[in-house]
Amino acid sequence: EEKYDKGLKKTRSSFMDKLNRLFANFRSVDEDFFEDLEDTLIESDVGFDMAVKLTDELRDEVKLQNAKDSEAVKNVIVKKMIDIYDEAGNGENNNINLVNDGLSVIMFVGVNGVGKTTTIGKMAKLYKNQGKKVLLAAADTFRAGAIQQLNVWAQRDGVDIVKKEEGSDPAAVVYEAVQKAQKDNYDVLFVDTAGRLQNKVNLMNELAKMKKVLTREIPEAPHEVLLTLDATTGQNALNQAKLFKEVTNVTGIVLTKLDGTAKGGIILAIRNELHLPVKYVGLGEKVTDLSKFNPSEYVYGLFK
Ligand code: GDP
Repeated sequence: EEKYDKGLKKTRSSFMDKLNRLFANFRSVDEDFFEDLEDTLIESDVGFDMAVKLTDELRDEVKLQNAKDSEAVKNVIVKKMIDIYDEAGNGENNNINLVNDGLSVIMFVGVNGVGKTTTIGKMAKLYKNQGKKVLLAAADTFRAGAIQQLNVWAQRDGVDIVKKEEGSDPAAVVYEAVQKAQKDNYDVLFVDTAGRLQNKVNLMNELAKMKKVLTREIPEAPHEVLLTLDATTGQNALNQAKLFKEVTNVTGIVLTKLDGTAKGGIILAIRNELHLPVKYVGLGEKVTDLSKFNPSEYVYGLFK
């Protein structure tokens, strides 16, 4: 996909700069090479454990395939990265769980500034274009400007929104939204939330209260809880993810800002350490800068 390809440009160059430097000095696949490769992978945000595991498996694979020149070795690396990603995922798919007939509720969680509101704006348009009736709920009532920002997206996308004043109870917003969504036969309800990790107990209670309001109307709701992570924050994103997994039932990841200077390896670290599927990736600020995540396209994209 072209936008995927273009969007990944900076991430690719920061990842490939490192690998290219390694391959520029390539002489033979000796132990020095593997040690440098391991360092490179760690620097690329794949995470320490994953870097060690990947390097170990590459050592075996390179021997097995008798790969000698740098192109052959690169190919082994690409294939191995895809295999490892798929392996960690146990063959699950990364589709958004939508109800065939009735209302699907998609809740977004994540800290401030990671791109929740923007991603909702992009996805709402995507679904609207598919002919779905979309409603947004501005349940990030905490951050100044969040409600207004979601409202701008609603207008831009031509979809409806339920909002209250800043400081309102987020669960009250969700309540109103789910009532309206059911009464007026909406297909998809997106819920924007405030992600204040500073107070874990408050956040947990707030999310639990929203969920309670939802399940009272629709026992399976929310059908998705998408944790949004900013790829440029590297290992920080992983730490946020671990905390959010503790406070709520996350069903998938949206990884934003892959058009920036993300190091690219973060995808493998997320998969390996969190066991959550990356479902969508953000590749810019525009409404069309969202792509369904495809692991092999992504890894091949990095090595282009
Ligand atoms: P929220 O606080 O989690 O709702 O984050 P926002 O949606 O307000 O996004 C914070 C900033 O990141 C905004 O300036 C967005 O335009 C920007 N942003 C969001 N997603 C992306 C992305 O995929 N790429 C880039 N370059 N910027 C993004």
